[in-house]
This record gives sequence, C-alpha cells and structure tokens, in this order.
Amino acid sequence: MNPTSTPSHQPPRTWEAVVLEKHTLSSTGFALSFERKGLQFEAGQLVNVNLPGHPPTDERSYTICSGTGDPYLQILFRYMPEGSLTPDLSRLTAGDRIIVTGPMGEFTIRDRTRPCIFVATGTGIAPARAYLRSQAVDQLTLVHGVRKAEDLFYRDEFSTGSYISCVSSEPGGDLQGRVTDWLAGFSLPDRATYHLCGANEMIYEVRDSLLSRGVAQDAIVTEAYYYRSDD
Ligand SMILES: Cc1cc2nc3c(=O)[nH]c(=O)nc-3n(C[C@H](O)[C@H](O)[C@H](O)COP(=O)(O)OP(=O)(O)OC[C@H]3O[C@@H](n4cnc5c(N)ncnc54)[C@H](O)[C@@H]3O)c2cc1C
Repeated sequence: MNPTSTPSHQPPRTWEAVVLEKHTLSSTGFALSFERKGLQFEAGQLVNVNLPGHPPTDERSYTICSGTGDPYLQILFRYMPEGSLTPDLSRLTAGDRIIVTGPMGEFTIRDRTRPCIFVATGTGIAPARAYLRSQAVDQLTLVHGVRKAEDLFYRDEFSTGSYISCVSSEPGGDLQGRVTDWLAGFSLPDRATYHLCGANEMIYEVRDSLLSRGVAQDAIVTEAYYYRSDD
C-alpha cells in the first residue's frame, strides 16, 4: 500500500527520529516536527512513518510539509479515531521517537515555470505547503477544500499568495461549497499544471472536469490519500 519508488538521487533509508514538537492545528489536525538527520528530498516527496512497538503493517505515508531548507522535517496528519497509527501519533510529545523511512514519491514540481494550480482536500494541502516553503514553483494557486473552517491548515502562510478556501459545511472560507464549485467558475490559465491531492473522489471528479475542459492528461498529477468525500 505504501509507495516504494523515488525519483530522488537519494535512495530511501530508515532512521529513528526524535520528535521536536507536536503542533495542534485543529480539533483533529496535528503537525509533527522531527529530526531530519540530513535527509535530502524534493518538495512533494513523502516519508513512511511507524512507531516503536507497532507492527510493520501500521506504517503509513505522510508528505513532508516542511521546506527543503528547513532544518527539521514536518508532517501534517488528521487523528482518525478508528485508525491504526494516528491515535498514537497524536499522543506523541517532544522527545518521543518515531521510525521514519524516506524519501519516496513523485508528486513533485516538474517545470517550475508553469503555473501550478493545486487543488487539495483536508490534509492534502501538505505538498502545497512544501512547494510554498521550498519556493519550488514560480506561481502557485491553492484551492483548499475542507468541511470545517478550523481545518484550513496553514491558512495564514498561504493568504499572501493566490489562495482560495472552500468550506463545505459552514461559513468561514472564501466560498461556502466544494472545490469543484469554485473550479467550475475559474478560467483555466495557459500552460498550467494541475496538482490534485487528498480524497480520491475529489481527484476523480476534478480530473474528469479538467479533461472535459481540454486540459491535457499529462498536465494533471495526482496523489490520493484516502477514500472519503465529505471535505
Ligand atoms: C501517498 C500517500 C500520502 C499520504 N500523506 C498523508 C499526509 O500527508 N497526511 C495525512 O494525514 N495522511 C496522509 N496519507 C494517509 C495516511 O497514510 C494514513 O492513511 C492516515 O494518517 C490514517 O492512518 P491510520 O492508521 O490512523 O488510519 P487508517 O487505518 O489508515 O485509515 C482509517 C480511515 O481514515 C481514512 N483516512 C486516511 N487518511 C485520512 C485523512 N488524511 N483524512 C481523512 N480521512 C483519512 C481512510 O480512508 C480510512 O477510512 C497519505 C496516504 C498516501 C497513500
């Protein structure tokens, strides 16, 4: 289930990292900063994470949401009450240890001169934050869809650029609705690439809509995190 390929010049390795800080971002959203141990990666790549004492099958993938220039690594995750890993991840505190394998993944910027339209649901915003902090692309437009406004993670960091928040179940965003509602009224720029990340239903819906509007298949890159449609 977890990705094993990497375009990076550095092959994946496994290390035990000390947790530096756990950040509470909302009632179910957390970020975890931990030791980088010299890891080189490209913005958009991920690490697999597990905890000492958990079986290997509990290892889960998380996009690195810190920048390539940051001295630590950070991941963003949502606490899933029935999940195997996130309940214990959310209980970590500074000084605890986690098992990290990386870098992996190919959800990276291929041509920084092409405008990047990034459409995310929920924690799918993580790679966009890595692009932003790493200055990986010249022009980034982020469309972030969430159910509750409290889950507009890193909102302040994005608000200086092109940022559209879509909150589906309450007021509090630029639009009350879903990312697909916003995209329907958006005129697609020339030469743009589309990065879609988060719930797989959103990814299919947005990809089909873009293809029907004439966007080339190779201008759309996707990273599915989970199978839910209520963001
Ligand atoms: C390539 C890749 C990258 C990923 N990057 C991230 C990331 O940066 N941040 C992140 O939070 N998750 C990410 N995920 C999902 C992550 O790997 C775990 O599945 C998630 O954290 C839940 O783990 P768990 O063991 O607690 O629950 P699981 O037993 O894995 O899942 C329990 C339920 O939660 C749903 N679910 C899983 N993840 C989410 C989510 N983020 N939001 C809402 N529902 C979810 C699942 O569909 C399932 O129904 C990524 C997944 C993949 C495949």
